[in-house]
Parts: sequence; C-alpha cells; structure tokens
Amino acid sequence: MVKTILDAFCVKSGILCRRCEEKLEKGQVTELDLKVIQKIVELEKQNPVLEDVTYHRAIEADDMMAVLVDKKDMPKLLGGGAKVVRELAETFGKRVKLISYGGDDRDFLEDLFSPLSILTINTVWIPDGSTETKVILTGRQPRKMPVDLDKVRKIAQELKGMTLRVEFEWF
Ligand SMILES: [Zn+2]
Repeated sequence: MVKTILDAFCVKSGILCRRCEEKLEKGQVTELDLKVIQKIVELEKQNPVLEDVTYHRAIEADDMMAVLVDKKDMPKLLGGGAKVVRELAETFGKRVKLISYGGDDRDFLEDLFSPLSILTINTVWIPDGSTETKVILTGRQPRKMPVDLDKVRKIAQELKGMTLRVEFEWF
C-alpha cells in the first residue's frame, strides 16, 4: 500500500486504532490526508505502481489541492497521462497540484508554478527582519493564468512558511 504514517489496516478499514487516532489529533495527519490516501489505495487496483509511493501531505487552498509525495515517486503519479492526478481532481472537485517532497526550495517552487517556468528566485530582506521569496517567472504574464497566484502564495505559506512575491520578466 502507498506509504504513509498511518497503518495500512487502519486506512483500509477506515477505523483508526488508538495510535493512528493520536496522529490525527496531533495534526500529523488530517482528515483530508486520510481521504486522499484512501483514494490512492482505491486507485492502486488499476495502478499497482502506486503501492510504492511515499505520501506526505495534502493541503487545500480554495479550489486547489496540493498533494506532496516523495520526489522519486513523482513519475509514478504523472505517468500514463497523469490519470491519477485527474482522478484525484475529479474525486475532490479541485485542481490538483502534485508537489515533490524532499527537494530544495527551487524544486518546490517549480512544481508549484508549473507549467510556468521560473527564471530566478531571490530572497528579499524586509526591514522587520523577515524575508520574502521573490520568484521571477519567464516571459510576459499570460492573459489567462494557468496558475492562480493567490492560491500558490497560500500553499507556499502554509507548507514552507514562505512569503512569495511574484514577477514576470521578458526580454
Ligand atoms: Zn492504526
């Protein structure tokens, strides 16, 4: 089964043991995670490669849902025309953004902004001592954005505590 911090038995039965219940109470895993994990388990029947995937987290920002899996497992979810991603999107009624876990900040931001491409990433120091991450995207800002910047900002804040500033640059 897809690797998670919950017991396989508990995920499959939907009845959590004391240990798994505690993880939920402590917020190490959420109700949303449980639902996403259960959906992935269901998809394993048609797609056994998912059994090797290590799942980390899912978070929502309005109608967007970010799903974090191990970096090495990304191709398993994106293979076959990203059918798994589409199935998750359909089940949860949200746009699903697959994000690799365990990479550096650049990897994270590239997944988050995909299909837009990143030119550079800089750290901006704010007078109050905090920092912002300035992401410069290549090209002109498309009239119809394939990525909702507000939601992307929200996800970056929640997952990495990163405050994003986004700009476009073209030559
Ligand atoms: Zn359990």
